[in-house]
Amino acid sequence: MRMLEYEGKTILRRHGIAVLPERVASSVDDAVASGGILGFPVVVKAQVLAGGRGKAGGVKLARTPDALREHAQAILGMDIKGERCHKLLIAKACGIEKEFYAGLTIDAGAGCPVLIFSIEGGVEIEEVAVTAPEKVLTMPISSLAAPRRHVIMEQMRQAGVSGPLLGKVTTVVAQLVEAFFANDCTTLEINPLAVTDAGEVVALDAKAVIDDAALKRQKLEQTDSVPANDLERRAQDIRVNYVTLDGEVAIIAGGAGLAMATMDMVNHLNSRAASFLDLGGGISAENMAEALRISYATKGVRGVVINIFGGINNCYEVARGIAEVLDNDRPASRLVVKMRGHSQNEGWALLEERNIPIVKYGTTRDAVQTLLAGL
Ligand code: GDP
Ligand code: MN
Repeated sequence: MRMLEYEGKTILRRHGIAVLPERVASSVDDAVASGGILGFPVVVKAQVLAGGRGKAGGVKLARTPDALREHAQAILGMDIKGERCHKLLIAKACGIEKEFYAGLTIDAGAGCPVLIFSIEGGVEIEEVAVTAPEKVLTMPISSLAAPRRHVIMEQMRQAGVSGPLLGKVTTVVAQLVEAFFANDCTTLEINPLAVTDAGEVVALDAKAVIDDAALKRQKLEQTDSVPANDLERRAQDIRVNYVTLDGEVAIIAGGAGLAMATMDMVNHLNSRAASFLDLGGGISAENMAEALRISYATKGVRGVVINIFGGINNCYEVARGIAEVLDNDRPASRLVVKMRGHSQNEGWALLEERNIPIVKYGTTRDAVQTLLAGL
């Protein structure tokens, strides 16, 4: 689960990392009031999950209440990389001497967490890694034992941190490692980790991603990926992965791999997906019906292709869900079902009674072709 900046900063603060005073605001008046409480200058920051808000105009410095009002008005409701901004963070501003990058993430290649640090922070770390790879330090971290302070300090020295900053930065990085494990993070990043003109080391931004498998232990509720629209919200409610796209074919498949293969086939046959819905495994008839309703309700849909591998789903359950929608909603768009495996005969029978084209032994290509031929 990805967290907004202010939520990530709460984690950092709990582990002793310095964060400047700040307040969350969800209206322009709230924002202006927050400025009054914090004292100027303040930074007005869009709370969206997307990165690169600064470049997109979602981070602005305000020296006066008027400027704050103006920025808050502009940023609230702003669309940043397809995500609407509903909340602002009003943070006390500071003079910045230096910007570092400090983060931990899971390195799938190395099979363990890695600490990433650079004295070239503020900008996107991926960019630095390309343009000046020697300036990005990476260090594998054991999940069993946190690195000793002197080991971190030596790494920070090699990364180019010196003088009185060395001890301060080492402390922050040690706290960051602790926070990463204590919160079951898969990513925890501070960019920039700023050195203020007063010589303090503070986190001016935070990005935290919590392992979904640990949400219960962390006592968190899944609220990730702020749904872009009502249909995505409905999909979240039944725990299926659904994304709205802009083509004409709604894809429903059991398993992300099969869903992607189906989408590839739709593209290959010169059509475009209107939506992508991965049922996962073990779908109930009830949730199948809702998944199909969501797909039919997607803008621009002319046909729906359902691709089920009956190893992780029960074809009869799936067919019952489909039948329920057909019987009650009488949808106008075309539907083709490819489904094979567990309880296939019962499932097929149910759909055949409703004259739905079924691909029993054919391929995904056959299913998509059948659908497209009828559009
Ligand atoms: P991002 O673009 O989404 O990563 O947003 P950030 O929170 O990292 O902000 C972008 C940039 O705004 C930072 O790299 C800083 O240079 C600047 N910034 C953020 N907070 C402050 C602040 O309190 N004071 C000053 N002077 N600049 C800030
Ligand atoms: Mn940042």
